[in-house]
Parts: sequence; C-alpha cells; structure tokens
Amino acid sequence: MARYTEASCRLCRREGEKLFLKGERCYTNKCAISKRVYAPGQHGQQKKKLSEYGIQLREKQKARRFYGILESQFRKYFEMAVSKKGVTGENLLQILESRLDNTIYRLGLATSRPEARQLVTHGHFTVNGKKVNIPSFLVKVGDVIAVKEKSRTSPKVKAIGDITGSKVIPKWLEFDPENLAGKVVALPSREDIDLPIREHLIVELYSK
Ligand code: SF4
Repeated sequence: MARYTEASCRLCRREGEKLFLKGERCYTNKCAISKRVYAPGQHGQQKKKLSEYGIQLREKQKARRFYGILESQFRKYFEMAVSKKGVTGENLLQILESRLDNTIYRLGLATSRPEARQLVTHGHFTVNGKKVNIPSFLVKVGDVIAVKEKSRTSPKVKAIGDITGSKVIPKWLEFDPENLAGKVVALPSREDIDLPIREHLIVELYSK
C-alpha cells in the first residue's frame, strides 16, 4: 500500500502549519515547527512570493498531507466530489473526512491520522461487526466503528483508550467510551471540519 515516507515534521514545515502528524509530540515544545518556522532544505529560509498557481498548489498539498493521501487517490476523491450534488469543495472535504482512518482519529481512538492508519492496517477495528483493514474505507451514516474484541488487550490500543476521554468528538459522530465504539450519526458538514483548508483553491487548481 502506497504511503508517505518523508519525515512528518518536514511536511509541516513545508506547509508552514502544524499538520498534527505525530500525536502527543505535536502539542509539546518538541514540535519542529515551533522551533524552525521556515521550510526545510537549503533555501528554506528564503522568502518567495507565490504565484496564484503556487498558492492553489500549496493548499492542495496541505489538504493531502493533513489526511496522508497520495496524489492519485486525492485526484480520485476530487472526481467523486465533482460527480456528487452540492458544492465540490465541501463534497471533497466530506469525502476526506469520511475515511475510516480519519474517523478513528476523530473518535479519539488514535492520537494522529498516521497512527489511525497504522492501527487500521493492523486490523484493530471493525465496521458493523466486520473487520476492516483498509484506511481509505469510507464510512456512511449508521456505521458502527469499534475496536476489535481481541485488540482491547493490546497495550497500544489500551493506552489510546485511556486518553480518549479528553478528546472533543465532532457532532457527526457519537462515541461510547465503555465499548470503545463510535457511530456515524450524520455526514460531516463543512462546519464540523476544523481544518484550515481553503477548498475553493483546490477546486480552482483542478479545474484549470
Ligand atoms: Fe508537525 Fe507534529 Fe512534527 Fe510539529 S511535531 S512539526 S505538528 S508533525
């Protein structure tokens, strides 16, 4: 399965924003972006004026990196968003937000999206009682996502279970901490998605 291999903190520094790819570390003073607020690489400290295309490109890259998605998959999501009724940019964010790995992160069952992705590929979750190990699986209204019975004793999952109480669950999800399970009660709307993404710029980029 294709995935990012570049150092996570470099991605944040490239986008000039915290992408929260490293869980707890992102909230401490060890966060690389709070120490070095410039792009990585030899010319990272040079100030460059971006063209209109450059601004749109950076916005798309930032969205991809928030969700940990490669270009080809992101393009497919954009095509799905175009074919759906409604505002394309909002449809795109809704699709991204409905990925199983993101849903698990939103439920507080992982400290970051990359961690959620890893837990999913390791087979720790079920959707409607069936094991699903595909991070890109798109959840729908009524789906119940739960930690697999056997995985509850896994130290990794247990540690995550202990911190879930502190997480604010978005209104499109319901969480049952006793059973480490969540339910999709609505599709995520734009107001539910707290990411600093200007989706209209992505639509403009792909519409050229
Ligand atoms: Fe980004 Fe987290 Fe690294 Fe900070 S610690 S630069 S937020 S991945």
